[in-house]
Amino acid sequence: MARYRGPVCRLCRREGEKLFLKGERCFTSKCAVERREGGPGQHGKGRQAFSDYKIQLRQKQKVKRIYGLVEKQFRAAYDRAARTKGVTGTELLLNMERRLDNIVYRLGFAVSRREARQLVSHGHILVNGKPVNIVSQLINAGDVVEVVEKSKKIPGIHAAMVSAEGRIIPDWLALDKQNVKGTVKALPTREQMPQNMNEQLIVELYSR
Ligand code: SF4
Repeated sequence: MARYRGPVCRLCRREGEKLFLKGERCFTSKCAVERREGGPGQHGKGRQAFSDYKIQLRQKQKVKRIYGLVEKQFRAAYDRAARTKGVTGTELLLNMERRLDNIVYRLGFAVSRREARQLVSHGHILVNGKPVNIVSQLINAGDVVEVVEKSKKIPGIHAAMVSAEGRIIPDWLALDKQNVKGTVKALPTREQMPQNMNEQLIVELYSR
């Protein structure tokens, strides 16, 4: 599975906002966005030109980075969304939210999507009682996502669940903390998905 292997705080600094890619550290004063002004690199603090193209590009990069996809994977997800009945931008975000790694993260079994991807690919997650190690698998309404019984003792999962206590679990998911299990009550509406993303700009970029 292709993925970005470079320093992740650099990605947040490039977008000029917190993308919450590192788990606990993102909520502390050690966060690079809080400590250092401007973008990364030699010219990071220089004057920025904002053309329409640049605004659209930055929005696409931001969403892609939040969900941890590389360009090829994101473009494929966009093409799938464009073929689906419905509003392309909303379908794109919906498909990002439905990814198994995102659900594992949203339920609080991992402190970041990156860690969630590891849990899935290392076989610690069951979907409807069956092991699934495909991080991009799309989850449906009614599906049950849980941690494998013997993996429930993994200290990282326990620590993630403790740290997630201060985080709001989306209302389209139901968490059974005791059994480290979650249910997708319904697929989210646009209002229930993150509000800091402007999917229309991504559609405009890819439609050029
Ligand atoms: Fe981004 Fe988290 Fe790094 Fe802050 S600590 S820059 S939010 S990845």
